[in-house]
Amino acid sequence: MTTYVEERLPGRALSARRPFANDLFLSNYLLATYGGCEFACQYCDLATTTIRPLGETTHVFVDVPQRLDRELEEIDPGDVVGLILSEAYQPAEREHRLTRQTLQVLAQLGQPTVILTKSPQILDDLRLLEVIHKRSLCVVIFSLPTTDHGLSEKLEGRAPAPQLRLDAAQMLHRAGIPVGFALLPIVPYVTDPTNHLSRTLSKMAATGAEFVVWDYLGIPNERHNERITDMLGYIARMPSSYYRDIYGSKPYPGLDYRTKIDEELIRRCDMLGLDVRVPHRVYHRRISPSNEISLLLRHQAFRDRAQGRERLAQLHRSLAEEAYLGRFDQVRMMQSPLWTTIHGILNPPAKQENEDDGGV
Ligand code: SF4
Repeated sequence: MTTYVEERLPGRALSARRPFANDLFLSNYLLATYGGCEFACQYCDLATTTIRPLGETTHVFVDVPQRLDRELEEIDPGDVVGLILSEAYQPAEREHRLTRQTLQVLAQLGQPTVILTKSPQILDDLRLLEVIHKRSLCVVIFSLPTTDHGLSEKLEGRAPAPQLRLDAAQMLHRAGIPVGFALLPIVPYVTDPTNHLSRTLSKMAATGAEFVVWDYLGIPNERHNERITDMLGYIARMPSSYYRDIYGSKPYPGLDYRTKIDEELIRRCDMLGLDVRVPHRVYHRRISPSNEISLLLRHQAFRDRAQGRERLAQLHRSLAEEAYLGRFDQVRMMQSPLWTTIHGILNPPAKQENEDDGGV
């Protein structure tokens, strides 16, 4: 049983602007309508930031919409706000509707928005998602580390079942909202076997989703290590050195392991017609040119690195950083095979008059 504690935000609603583009979630700013998370997934690294056990208390930040309304006046209208920190559609939302009120503010100003969720409850706010997407960009990403019901029960038993997330993604796709999935996290030995990844991706592709992103299980400190060790203890029997070989003394799996899985995922996504990362067509001309170019370059850098083009990856990463800061050195940009696309973004065709920009 989770206790809801209503409180005012201790600081600003929006985080500081990120120092570089977020190639998984597109977001320049983070925003949380709730603190903590009732779903209390076993692998969640929010557990490393809470004093009480994860899921015991949800902080309900009652003044997020009002604060956000003021703060949005100060930021670039082409920057992306990400509701990706804690679950925006955890059960508290049924009672408090803070995520809905926050989306109303985002819709009024047409601020580009990305939402990461595990809950089909997001469908309740479909009208608001449509308004935001009509005015700029609204992307929904369902977090789904596995489509295996039994495994999901063990990893994230308080979250909505995988099939509910798949069904919700299909409905959003049919409604015209760009939707994708996040394999978050990839848990070595548990969710990374090739046949498991293959089944998971096939079910995702069948919903009509456009893309998949992924990241690996982080084990940032001893407290989280204990939690992960407990979790693994009742899920998998593996050689005792298995995690030590992959992680060494680091909080994140080593590059060799990640490259192998990245290659495998890219190959399978290509076969299924799923983009790896949000495809450019989704955010083209819907966010600021510097964000758009920066993301395009970072996404390409990811593919370059995974496919062994390290020098090109480095070039694209450094150009992405320059673009993010609004610096466009044409001579350097022309070194990229993406130059024609970049040139088109920097030199858009004249806007048509009388464009309907929607309304809340
Ligand atoms: S739903 Fe997301 S934020 Fe909530 S516990 Fe699970 S991983 Fe953490």
